[in-house]
Amino acid sequence: MIKTDILVIGSGAAGMSAAIKLSENFEVTLITKNSLIDSSTWYAQGGIAAVIDDNDTIEEHLRDTLIAGDGLCNETAVRECVSHGEEAINWLASLGTNFTQDKSSENFHLTQEGGHSKRRVVHAEDATGKEVSSSLSDIVRSISNIKILENHIVVDLITHENNCIGAYVLDIKANAVKAFTASSTILATGGASKVYLYTSNPDGSSGDGIGLAWRAGCIVENLEFNQFHPTCLFHPDAKSFLISEALRGEGAFLINRNGEKFMKKYDSRLELAPRDIVARSIDKEMKITGEDNVFLDISHKNPEEIKDEFPNILKQCKTFGFDLTREPIPVVPAAHYTCGGVKVDLNSHTNINNLYAIGEVSSTGLHGANRLASNSLLECVVFAKKASQHILENFKKNNYSVEEWDVSKVTETQEGVIIGHNWDEIRRLMWDYVGIVRSNNLLKRAELAMKHINQEVNYFYGKYLISSDLIELRNLALVANLTIKSALKRKESRGLHYSIDYPNLLKTAKPTILDPKKLKI
Ligand SMILES: Cc1cc2nc3c(=O)[nH]c(=O)nc-3n(C[C@H](O)[C@H](O)[C@H](O)COP(=O)(O)OP(=O)(O)OC[C@H]3O[C@@H](n4cnc5c(N)ncnc54)[C@H](O)[C@@H]3O)c2cc1C
Repeated sequence: MIKTDILVIGSGAAGMSAAIKLSENFEVTLITKNSLIDSSTWYAQGGIAAVIDDNDTIEEHLRDTLIAGDGLCNETAVRECVSHGEEAINWLASLGTNFTQDKSSENFHLTQEGGHSKRRVVHAEDATGKEVSSSLSDIVRSISNIKILENHIVVDLITHENNCIGAYVLDIKANAVKAFTASSTILATGGASKVYLYTSNPDGSSGDGIGLAWRAGCIVENLEFNQFHPTCLFHPDAKSFLISEALRGEGAFLINRNGEKFMKKYDSRLELAPRDIVARSIDKEMKITGEDNVFLDISHKNPEEIKDEFPNILKQCKTFGFDLTREPIPVVPAAHYTCGGVKVDLNSHTNINNLYAIGEVSSTGLHGANRLASNSLLECVVFAKKASQHILENFKKNNYSVEEWDVSKVTETQEGVIIGHNWDEIRRLMWDYVGIVRSNNLLKRAELAMKHINQEVNYFYGKYLISSDLIELRNLALVANLTIKSALKRKESRGLHYSIDYPNLLKTAKPTILDPKKLKI
């Protein structure tokens, strides 16, 4: 049994920020299932929203966030988050994050993104996440109070009565499960977009934190709100490659396989309609034509301009055999962000004592029914600080001991094929039945299919030795189930949840709450 003051699970912007802050007062163990920088954070392109410009105000950032959230944001949480934007940016900069500077002033350069009424997106060229992740990981590695365990994946949290007292963790290389006790545990495990066949997220976004929290007794909320990015490159090896909406901003058309510009059928704003509308239109077009993708065409523009404006995208597309300057490229919408998650209060504390959730795994109330672009990295940093502060003010040493992991009743499997098969089946099922446009009929089919898959996964988990693939599959299956149940509960179309059976908005906006004490899966 390994004892630590604080267990931080996950090394994205949220987990590393919390580890750095907590290390000032505590001994922190930072557990991450791959390398420190392997996270969605690394892939973030656009930037971090913060009120910095003299012409901008907290009230305007608040209003833009509430509008995007379509009635479901918690206004207090939004205010708390947006009013700490500048502080969060300055803190990251003080740790060495090299944000792009404005050429004509001493300030950070600001861009404007969809849904923001002002220029307020601080960025590091077009690879903000890489810069944030690199600077945080350099600092984390330099702090002796942080014990870093890479290639370690949390299997389950350990609870006693209503307290979280630690976790079982699989050391992936040694293939052994270790028991940890901690006075406080922070889930910073990111989102669950890997539950869909197409996603902009890295492989690790398998919803582990939601699975861990649910099994520990945590309430989850708003899991039906999955944000889909309209355009990812469609190629078997380009699984995480996002084609920025800036291309559409510069005049790229969406066309179907017949070369028809189809957006005119769906929205008068054509390719510049909001993200969720463009994603829904592409989904509809793909369902009509039966094709696996549509195409994005910017080849009518001057090749020199394309080279100047999109060097990174041009280069990436070329590695997959597509030349943006000469031909349409195949694109598909992709699951991008999990707006709901583990329900937390304003200190990012869950309903289980000493258990916190921060970043994309959490539901703070900031995003409501739809996330405003570039608010998520901000949320990671702001709520990492709030959770750390709350831990500092309420710290009590945990003297519990926990039992070692028992492998006496399980054996090596000869049927590992079941794991890969179920992974694929869940992701295809979620894409086809619980995707961008939903119906009661398809959701019920998905619910039934997932019941069988879940039984199989649980049987497998109880009988055989665990592996990281099996741990992720178990969480993925649980999150798929919870997402379907949440989608079935919502009898309206709001924000990112669109149902053909309930196309209208109800007068009162209510969160979808699922409680493990009341719902057995
Ligand atoms: C392509 C792309 C572009 C984006 N662009 C932007 C943007 O411009 N601005 C913005 O604000 N947001 C953007 N986002 C969203 C943003 O990047 C994420 O919401 C944010 O980085 C999430 O940070 P996090 O710390 O919560 O989780 P992550 O960064 O995903 O980190 C999760 C960590 O948890 C670890 N982990 C998970 N499960 C376990 C387990 N069981 N055991 C141990 N470790 C575990 C993972 O390995 C990882 O280290 C983008 C996302 C993507 C994918």
